[in-house]
Amino acid sequence: MNEIRKENVKGLKPIAATKDWKLLYFQHGRAGLEESISYKGLCSHCEIRDICSIVKPKTGIWRCKYYQAKTTQKSNLYENVIKQLDQTVDAIHFDKDICEILARTMNELVVHFPVRMDDGRVKVLTGYRVQHNNALGPFKGGLRFHPLVDIDEVRALATLMTWKTALVNIPFGGAKGGIQLDPTDFTPEELERITRRFTFALGNNIGPEYDIPAPDVNTNPKIMAWILDTYMSTMTPTERNRCIHVVTGKPLEAGGSQGRNKATGQGVVFLIEKWARDHGFNLKGARYIVQGFGNVGSWAARLMKHHGARLVAVEDVSGAICNTEGIDPDDLAEYVKEHAGVVLGYPKADPINHETFFSTRADIFIPAALENQITADTAEILNVRLVAEGANGPTEPEGDKVLQRRNIDVIPDILCNAGGVIVSYFEWLQNKRSEFWEEEEIDSKLKKIIISAYERVLAAAEKYKVDMRTAAQIVAISRLEMVYKERGIFP
Ligand code: NAD
Repeated sequence: MNEIRKENVKGLKPIAATKDWKLLYFQHGRAGLEESISYKGLCSHCEIRDICSIVKPKTGIWRCKYYQAKTTQKSNLYENVIKQLDQTVDAIHFDKDICEILARTMNELVVHFPVRMDDGRVKVLTGYRVQHNNALGPFKGGLRFHPLVDIDEVRALATLMTWKTALVNIPFGGAKGGIQLDPTDFTPEELERITRRFTFALGNNIGPEYDIPAPDVNTNPKIMAWILDTYMSTMTPTERNRCIHVVTGKPLEAGGSQGRNKATGQGVVFLIEKWARDHGFNLKGARYIVQGFGNVGSWAARLMKHHGARLVAVEDVSGAICNTEGIDPDDLAEYVKEHAGVVLGYPKADPINHETFFSTRADIFIPAALENQITADTAEILNVRLVAEGANGPTEPEGDKVLQRRNIDVIPDILCNAGGVIVSYFEWLQNKRSEFWEEEEIDSKLKKIIISAYERVLAAAEKYKVDMRTAAQIVAISRLEMVYKERGIFP
């Protein structure tokens, strides 16, 4: 920001402006549990308001509330998922009865549970677990901690999990869960109590042969270890060691698998490599942009570096940064680890706004944050050849139409980010058999499964003359349809 005007307002001291803010004046106070500062001025993130405010949650960094509101509006993902299902069903005339089954979730659990906070007060939180379908095996799907988690979002994500496991041909069904909260509002001790109390509330609605959670947005191996420990603690001593596969994505020391942490990003990069080979495109020197620099985004970015590709822009919840000369993803990952998990402020890149991020000239875009990021508007300004969907549901149907019209290739989410659940399956198998597989073995098995799924999708796209997203759904739903036809409907 070049021009910084400061005004002396009675009772308020002007402070030095950071480069992200055009400061006029500020007010400083405490609002509830959050420390907040209100600025009158233009925030470089939202650039739409003349009064902005940033907050510093308990364990977080200062950030702009309006910016977050703008990019994390309530999702209509469930509507989109059902719309997409209807389109696929129309495209190849699936059995109507089976589509009727697949258009609904099987079980939905909503739990409200009390947790004591560090200051002695009790907070009642709301958690969800939705089990969409288990025709192919136990329910499987991540747990998300996010303020916008609600029943519809979880329904949508559970449905996508059913498509994903069917598509890549692993013996699991689809589920998803989460707690509606902003993790930065809680201390680590509070988060542990929340996780354990939620696990207890879920009770036998999860289980190693029934429904197996895994990490998703804002959850990680540590949280999986708490779930495992809580679940085991409710078992009899003889059952305890037989349920280590109740969650996947655990730390190695607690029964996790080699390669699980990077698995989703690794799957994304295997598929980008395959796309590049098929299109005679050289990844060396190719430019890519990444939205979301958490588990999926940071691993995908770091693995792309091995191909000599150049990361030029990154956006996360704190804002976006750009360096056309290239950002070293390993260096950025180190920075993020030491700076409350966010990219903003990284000294070797310049801050940019949301629109500039989306219009950055590159070859590949890896969305790896939340749903509904590629809208009709952002799809119009994207300046890439390929979108490799690391996130679940990052593209709205209207955005999809624009990508198709502009001939931008898409590796759709249920295929592109399936690496996570594939290696979760390996972890589950290793736990059941008391085995430990080497990372090379995991990587080569993952590659084989994900590339053969890609080939099935490509073949379906050619056979039915449809786009890759519809083709991926056709492959997944065909498998489910076959299973229902063979087994019939009870009674
Ligand atoms: P994460 O919590 O590790 O990282 C999420 C990232 O998104 C963070 O960098 C965060 O700052 C960023 N973000 C959040 N809100 C944003 C916003 N409004 N604008 C821009 N960036 C924002 O989560 P993750 O596990 O990496 O998951 C990311 C996506 O990948 C989700 O859609 C998830 O469902 C999907 N996914 C994850 C896995 C897995 O194994 N973790 C597997 C398959 C799919």
